[in-house]
Amino acid sequence: MPLVTPAAPLDYLGVDALVDDETRDLQAAVRHFVDERVRPHVATWFEDGRLPARDLARELGELGVLGMHLTGYGCAGTSATAYGLACLELEAGDSGLRSLVSVQGSLAMYAIWRFGSAEHKQEWLPAMAAGRAIGCFGLTEPDFGSDPAGMRTRARRDGDDWILSGTKMWITNGSVADIAVVWAQTDDGIRGFVVPTDTPGFSAPEIKRKLSLRASVTSELVLDDVRLPADAVLPGGTGMGGPLSCLNEARMGIVFGALGAARDCLETTIAYAQSRQIFDKPLAAHQITQVKLADMTVELGKGLLLALHLGRLKDTGTLDHRQISLGKLNSVREALTIANTCRTILGAAGITLDYPVMRHAANLESVLTYEGTSEVHQLVIGQTLTGHAAFR
Ligand SMILES: Cc1cc2nc3c(=O)[nH]c(=O)nc-3n(C[C@H](O)[C@H](O)[C@H](O)COP(=O)(O)OP(=O)(O)OC[C@H]3O[C@@H](n4cnc5c(N)ncnc54)[C@H](O)[C@@H]3O)c2cc1C
Repeated sequence: MPLVTPAAPLDYLGVDALVDDETRDLQAAVRHFVDERVRPHVATWFEDGRLPARDLARELGELGVLGMHLTGYGCAGTSATAYGLACLELEAGDSGLRSLVSVQGSLAMYAIWRFGSAEHKQEWLPAMAAGRAIGCFGLTEPDFGSDPAGMRTRARRDGDDWILSGTKMWITNGSVADIAVVWAQTDDGIRGFVVPTDTPGFSAPEIKRKLSLRASVTSELVLDDVRLPADAVLPGGTGMGGPLSCLNEARMGIVFGALGAARDCLETTIAYAQSRQIFDKPLAAHQITQVKLADMTVELGKGLLLALHLGRLKDTGTLDHRQISLGKLNSVREALTIANTCRTILGAAGITLDYPVMRHAANLESVLTYEGTSEVHQLVIGQTLTGHAAFR
C-alpha cells in the first residue's frame, strides 16, 4: 500500500486502519455531512457572525452525533473513540460546529445523564439527542474563568423553591438554548440546576464583536432572581467534581477535534502549494515549503496517535483526567501552530475567507482558551510531575 493514498492524503501513519469498520463508516458519514451541509456556507456564517444553530441541531440529531457516546434516551451509545473521530470531522468544517455538538452532548446532556433525576432525563435527553431542544452549560462567570470554584452565582431556598441569581459569561449556545445547566453556590456547596430558558428572570444576550468562533453563538446568562421548583436541582454532582467531570467529557472531543481543523488547513495548503507557481516552479517544489509540510505532518500524525490512545484508554475505563490535560494541551497548541504555518504558505490569499486556514487559526484561539487554558493544563501536568500545586 502506498504510504499516502489519494483517499486519505494525510493519513501518513495509517491511523485510519487502526479503527474498526463501524467507526470508520460513522466518521465518513460525518465527513460527508460536513462537506455537503457546512463547507459551502461556513465562510459566510463566519463572516456574518452567525450560525443557523436550530436547523443544524435537527440535522445533527438525525445524523446521530448529539450525545452519541451516551447510552439510552435516544443516544447512539458509541465508543469515546468514535465520538472523538466525529468531532474531528465536525471541526474540520469549523470549530463552531464542533462546539455546538460538544456543548450539547458532553456538557449539557452529559450533566443531565450523569447527575440528573429520572424525570430530568426523560424530559430532556430524548429531545436533546434529536436536536429538538438545545442545551447550554453555564459555569464561567465574568470574574471567574480558570478558577470557577470562586463563582458568585447563588441559589438560595425560598420555601421549597430555589431562587437563582448571578451572571454567567462566554456561554456557548446560550441565546439559542431551550435548557441551561447552571452551576451555583448553595449552602451545601456548588450544585447544578436545570433551568428552562423561558423561566421569568432568565435572559441570554449574545456576545458580539468576536474575532474567533464567529460561526458559534456565545452569550452571557443573566439570572435575575430566577424562581425554580425544588426538583430543578441535579441530585448528583455536588461540589466542583460535577462540572469538572463534564468538562473532561468535552475535552475528549477537543483532543480529536482540533486535529480536524489542522488537517483541513494542511489539506488546503498542500493543494494550494501544488498549484501556485513561484520562481518558475510550484511552491510545493521548493525545499522550505516541504520542510514546513513535513514538520506539520509529523505533529498531526503524533497528535492523531495520541488522541487515539486516549480514546482507547477512555473506552477501557482507565483514562485519568490528567492524561486528558496532556492531550488537550498538545492537540490545540499544535493545531494552532499548523494553522498559522499554513497561513504563511498561502501568502496574501491566506488572510481571506476564500480559504479556511485563517478562519481555523482564529477559531483555535478560543479552543486554546476554553475547557481549561493551555496554562491551566500545564499546571495540571506540572502538579502531577512534581506534587506541587502551583495554581495559587
Ligand atoms: C468562545 C468561547 C466559548 C466558551 N464557552 C463556554 C461555555 O459554554 N460554558 C462555560 O462555562 N464557559 C465557556 N467559555 C469560557 C472559558 O471556559 C473561559 O474563558 C476559560 O476557562 C478561561 O477563563 P477566562 O477567559 O476568564 O480567563 P482567565 O481565567 O482570566 O485567564 C487569563 C489568563 O491567565 C492564565 N492563568 C489562569 N490561571 C493561572 C495561574 N494559576 N497561573 C498563571 N496563569 C494563569 C490563563 O491561562 C490565561 O492565560 C467559553 C469561552 C470562549 C472564548
